[in-house]
Amino acid sequence: MANKPSEKEQEYIARKEFEKLQKLKADAQKKLAEKEKNKLIELHHMRCPKCGMELIEIDYRSIMIDKCSQCEGIWLDAGEFESVSKLEKSGLDKLFSVFKKV
Ligand SMILES: [Zn+2]
Repeated sequence: MANKPSEKEQEYIARKEFEKLQKLKADAQKKLAEKEKNKLIELHHMRCPKCGMELIEIDYRSIMIDKCSQCEGIWLDAGEFESVSKLEKSGLDKLFSVFKKV
C-alpha cells in the first residue's frame, strides 16, 4: 500500500497544479489577444486610418498607393514612401495627375 503523501509532497503537487492552471490561463489569454488582433486587422483592412472609409488601391510603377474614397487622404505601405521619394519630378507629376479630379 502506498504511503500517504507528506505535507511537503502535497505542497509540491498543489504548486505544480497551480503552475499548470496558470499556464493554461496565460495561453488562453494569448489566444484571445491573437483573436482580437486578427479581428482588428480584418476590420481595418483597406480602410482609411483617418476616417474609416474604403481605400482605393492604385498601382503606379509597382508602388501600391492607397487613396481614401472619402477624405482623399493618400496612404503608403511600409517602404513605399522611400520608393516615392526616388521618383523624378516628371514621375511625381504623373503620380499626382493619376489622382487629379476630373
Ligand atoms: Zn479617409
